Parts: sequence; C-alpha cells; structure tokens
Amino acid sequence: MKTLNDFDFNNKKALIRVDFNVPLNDKFEVTDDTRIRSAKPTIIKILEDGGSCILMSHLGRPKGVQDEFSLRHIIDKVEDIMGVEVKFVEDCVGEKAEAAVANLKHGEILLLENLRFHDEETAGDRKFAESLSKLGDIYVNDAFGTAHRAHASTTIVAEFFPNNKCFGNLLAQEIESIKKVMQTGEKPVLAVLGGAKVSSKITIIENILDKVDHLIIGGGMTYTFIKAQGGKVGDSICEDDKMELALEILKEAKNKNVKIHLPVDVVAADDFANDANTQVVDVDKIPDGWQGLDAGPKSKELFHDVVLQCKTILWNGPLGVFEMENFAKGTIALGESIAEATKNGAFSLVGGGDSVSAVKQFGFENKVSYVSTGGGAMLESLEGKTLPGIAAILD
Ligand code: AMP
Repeated sequence: MKTLNDFDFNNKKALIRVDFNVPLNDKFEVTDDTRIRSAKPTIIKILEDGGSCILMSHLGRPKGVQDEFSLRHIIDKVEDIMGVEVKFVEDCVGEKAEAAVANLKHGEILLLENLRFHDEETAGDRKFAESLSKLGDIYVNDAFGTAHRAHASTTIVAEFFPNNKCFGNLLAQEIESIKKVMQTGEKPVLAVLGGAKVSSKITIIENILDKVDHLIIGGGMTYTFIKAQGGKVGDSICEDDKMELALEILKEAKNKNVKIHLPVDVVAADDFANDANTQVVDVDKIPDGWQGLDAGPKSKELFHDVVLQCKTILWNGPLGVFEMENFAKGTIALGESIAEATKNGAFSLVGGGDSVSAVKQFGFENKVSYVSTGGGAMLESLEGKTLPGIAAILD
C-alpha cells in the first residue's frame, strides 16, 4: 500500500483528489469544514517536502456549470485552514488549467473548479481522466467520501500514473481503521448496528458475522428480529418480509459463535413525535398503538456491559430516533459507554451516516478512536466490498 512516505515530493506537482464537498449556507459560507481540515495533513506534508498541490474535488450535484456549485466559494476557507494562499482556476481541465499548473511554484496550492461541471467526471470518462492526469507528476487520492465511485478523478485517472500514485494521509487512516475492525482488531470485537431498516444493513450483518464476537442490533431493526421470534411489537417499524432473514441471521450467528444482543426493553410512544406519551415496556410486549422509538434503561445497562468487555468496537447507526430529544437517550448512553471503553484502551470506529451525526451532535467526536469521513464508502467497506478508488491505487 503506497502512501505519501513512499515519495519525495520535492519539485513535484501533486494532483490530489480531495473531498471538499462541504455544506454551504445561502451566503455560500462553509457551515462544516471537517472535510477541508481532514485533508490538511496531506497537503502540508507535500508542501513541506518542497512540492506543490493541485487540488481537485466535486461540490454538490450540479447539472453542467452552475455558479452556486463553484468551488470559488470555498477558497477563503481553504486558505484559512491551510495557512497558505490558494490560487484558483475556473476549469479543472484544458488550456486554462494547464497554464495555471505551469505557473505554480513549489509550496503553492492551486484549487481546480468543480470536477462535476463536466459530465465526464461521474461517467468515469477515460479521455477526461487523461486530461486531468496532465496536471500533476504524482496522483494522490485522499477522498474517502468518494472512494466507492469509479469516477474519472477518483479511479480512472490512476491508470495514467502506473508508478506514481499513492494514498493521502486521510485515506490511509480510513483504510487502517477499517482493517483494525475487520481483520486485525484485538478481541473481543463488537459491532453495534442501529438505524432504521434491516434491509439496508443486511449485507453488512452477513459480512460482519465472520469478523465479530458480539453484535448489538438496535434502532428500528430491533422489531423485525423481535416479531420474527414471536414478540409483540405494536406499531413499531417492522419489515415483515425480512423476518425469515432475521431468523436465519440469528441461527447463523449461533453457528459462528457470535453473541447477538437485542434491546430487552424500549421507550414506546403513542405517536412518532417528540411530545408523544411514552412508557417503558419489554421489547416483546409493545401494545398496539404504541411504537418503540428508543432503547430502554435495562437495554442501556446490558449494552454498557457488552461494550466494556470489548477491545475493538465498530458503531454504525443510532439506537433510537435520536433526532427527537426524548428518544436520543439510548444513543447518547451508547456513545458514553463507547467513550469509556475507548478511555480504557479499546479501539473504536464510528462510521456511516447517522451515527457520525449523532457522535458529533452529542460531543463524542474526540472521545472515540476514529470517526470516518465517508458515509456510502464506509457502508460499502463494511459490506466487504473493495472500493474502486482504493483498488485503483493498489493495482
Ligand atoms: P440508518 O440511516 O439506517 O442508519 O437509519 C438512521 C435512522 O434510523 C435515523 O433517522 C433514526 O431516527 C432512525 N431510527 C432509529 N431507531 C428507530 C426506531 N425505533 N423507529 C424508527 N426509526 C428509527
């Protein structure tokens, strides 16, 4: 696996795929700069080596050239974070871009315009990738958030750098964290899978049963498993057509010696609303007209004990409807347990969509070992897929 340390960037132009797809408000100000900050170590390392950085990214999903999706809006933010002046060129390929690169000196940063202003980017067009490849001596992929896409700048462009391509620090760290959970993690290994539906997590569950000792299943997925075993789930979210699958998973887990932990009690509500009436009930005795929206107190205790036994922990998906304050307590308690286990020396990785928002919202970001920057890319990694952006560097 080639990383930045395998190259001397002195006098070299590094063409870096970053993920600067950041949220902007209606004044075009960056409202969350995590992704820009995450790319800083790679950029600074190359500049300190005596190289220059050509940054390429997408922003949003423009249809052709649309000013609201211009990367021009983020120049100041990138400058602030890197502490270096950032030059900008209003196209990512062609004469203008090539001229801007030719004028770039060591220690300088050039930001290219939104890759997706060209349809060829998402189409993975080879000619377009070749045009991009003219802009650098070494290709660096540091965009985990798009590593699951075989786009021109994330995958195809690597073909034009057979010996001069590597992972940036962020992407290398993401790969290392996933490996720690899926392959080399200290036992016991625990995965916590929450979220809304069994159907969206099924491939992950199947893949992960070979890697873990404990599996906590929470959130909306709970009720399919409980009903499948004969429990009463009232009006809780439930996928009847996945009940058979749920039973198969339970059986397979037993065969593989994986302990599955489901909630034992839940906070049930008489409406899907923060101000609904609530009661704590056994998970398999939810009355009609009521729906389970959060883990109950006994479940929190049970999960706490499991989490603290484990040395490697993966967390994907909330334990309840955490967007509503009254149903966030189970998710917060789990975050606290994982933070405590991490303090005691466990490795914890939080990844994939809503658990990342929950971790940030409730202030656990710096209390876990690693928070992944990729949603879809993380989910596909947990499903056991080799991401095209990663494969292209390994080739
Ligand atoms: P996912 O994207 O699959 O990780 O699902 C995240 C969503 O699951 C969040 O929006 C939660 O509100 C939702 N969720 C978690 N627990 C429940 C539940 N018991 N009932 C309905 N939705 C839930």
